[in-house]
Amino acid sequence: MPIRLEIVTAERTVLSDDVDMVNVPAIGGRMGILPRHEPVLTMLVPGEMTIVKRGERIPFAVSGGFLEVLPDRVTILADTAERADEIDEARAEQARRRAEEALRERKSAEEVAAAEAQLRRALVRLRVARMRRDRGQRHISE
Ligand code: ATP
Repeated sequence: MPIRLEIVTAERTVLSDDVDMVNVPAIGGRMGILPRHEPVLTMLVPGEMTIVKRGERIPFAVSGGFLEVLPDRVTILADTAERADEIDEARAEQARRRAEEALRERKSAEEVAAAEAQLRRALVRLRVARMRRDRGQRHISE
């Protein structure tokens, strides 16, 4: 029995598919969801999200949002979500540099928080984009 999974953002449906497992960065730690998981509603933090379909691990970068597990479906309402092969590595590298520069300057608490959040998003995207290249050699626990 597969899991009906929808990954949506305000902009688009990122994925709508039947999958075997979902692993997400939830606010309380990583969470693995298998079929018949108990209902859950929780927040997501920036990190790597993995789905498993027919034995293949498919990595995504997610920048936060919500996870809802219902008896008949799992919904991920993400701030942003990109599959590894959708990530523009050069853009993420630029975002990382901009965030690091902003953190070196003397800024307001709000600006520091925004730069830290941007840095986290960029680092997650870079890590996930790089997983695309060493696909098959990584495991969820790494
Ligand atoms: P940037 O400064 O490059 O826009 P950001 O972290 O501020 O980075 P977000 O606000 O998280 O960007 O995302 C804005 C939109 O752009 C979202 O739709 C997100 O999926 C997409 N996006 C952001 N960075 C990348 C990237 N490196 N590759 C592909 N899509 C990206």
